[in-house]
Amino acid sequence: MAEKENLLKSGYETVIGIEVHVQLTTQSKIFCQCPNVVSHKQNSTICPICTGHPGVLPVLNKDVPHRAIKVGLATNCKITEDNFFARKHYFYPDLPKAYQITQSTEPICKNGYLEIPLEDGSFKKIRINRIHMEEDAGKNLHSALTNESYVDLNRAGTPLLEIVSEPDISSPYEARMYLKMLRNIIMYLNVGTANMEEGAFRADTNISVRKPGAALGTKCELKNINSFKFISDAIEYEVDRQIGLLEQGGKITQETRLWDVKEQKTVPMRGKEEAADYRYLPDPDIPPLHVDSAWISKVTSELPELPNKRYQRYITSGLTPYEADVLINDMDVADYYDKARTFTKSPLLINWVLRELMAFIKEEKIRLTDCKMTPELLAELVTLLDNKLINNRGAQEVFEIVGKTGQSPKAVVKERGLEQIGSSEEIEKIIKEIIATNQKIVEEYKSGNQKLWGFFVGQAMKKTSGKGDPIMINDLLKKYL
Ligand SMILES: [Zn+2]
Repeated sequence: MAEKENLLKSGYETVIGIEVHVQLTTQSKIFCQCPNVVSHKQNSTICPICTGHPGVLPVLNKDVPHRAIKVGLATNCKITEDNFFARKHYFYPDLPKAYQITQSTEPICKNGYLEIPLEDGSFKKIRINRIHMEEDAGKNLHSALTNESYVDLNRAGTPLLEIVSEPDISSPYEARMYLKMLRNIIMYLNVGTANMEEGAFRADTNISVRKPGAALGTKCELKNINSFKFISDAIEYEVDRQIGLLEQGGKITQETRLWDVKEQKTVPMRGKEEAADYRYLPDPDIPPLHVDSAWISKVTSELPELPNKRYQRYITSGLTPYEADVLINDMDVADYYDKARTFTKSPLLINWVLRELMAFIKEEKIRLTDCKMTPELLAELVTLLDNKLINNRGAQEVFEIVGKTGQSPKAVVKERGLEQIGSSEEIEKIIKEIIATNQKIVEEYKSGNQKLWGFFVGQAMKKTSGKGDPIMINDLLKKYL
């Protein structure tokens, strides 16, 4: 497909590295006891510590490294035994201390990798350079009405993980899969909401191009893009822009660019980037954090089945890469499917989950967990279908009723008289009858008018009140016509 060709575009390789900031959903903030919640009342979840008053003492919330270790283990990282925090200095109104507490030389997780599924069902390893813990800054709010700016510090001190990949990503498709997989891991581990629109999962993408074997090209950074589609569109555009520029003999300027959704192009961020000197210093307020093997074992025991393992399990059990991908990207649907599969091994199940069930909850505007068609009931319905006790049309009717009432499919079938007329004798009788009473049409069919086939099938369905097995009807019609 197009993605594969993309690995070498106009003779150039694409080189992408991604930094992701993940907000953690710990109860309190990283260095104080303020609640870690989204509050729409400005400056309502703040204290002297997260607003950087002089003389206060930040204390590390242990749940932050606990969650960081979880993400580290899930991405095959080595966990650093002795962790230090550092001050990263920069001056901005939403950062009252004028430094951010972060990790520098000793991040809590190092040298991991994430396996991403490719379109053919195989996996590619994307190396992870590091994962470190840090605090988020506040937010500046600008009022066009009064032409004034305000600072809201509610977000200051929200715990963040920064996850930095190596430049192993070679196409927009791989970038999207990497981000999807990473986001799934955050959700499976229940360490953050990973909601992109709310900024709880933010990706900065570094892109460069080069001729195969050449040194790394100058990179541009894409910032603040909040959807997978926009990110892959932006990369696609940016790669073409860089190749076009190089082919015309131009030079790439290292800069940060934004994605203009309306114009469908990347544009340089206003103001020239200055090489920042953050003057990192060890933070003297926060004692070193020691992670012992008992802690790591405890976190290991808490790890659930991870998305890539789940993906592999689905592929092994006979699902297509597409089906497996849809399932792992929605944990509720995957859990539903797994539960239903404990009641039936029918290969029909996946279609009923991905098509009928998804369409039904969309139409009814309900959540999957509120749907009256439970995994057990759907399994019962699929079993009826699998055993040919109802046909597809009947099953759809039963689905609608069970979805709205929660009744047992067996009871609905009985109540509505939807049992499929299964015995071949019954259908054989009906077909013989149809042939006997429509001799003229039979002759027309036999003299070559193939279109009349539908007439006979329609008659048979009508005579069985829609309850005949279509396969059996077709087989018997073939026999007698
Ligand atoms: Zn606070």
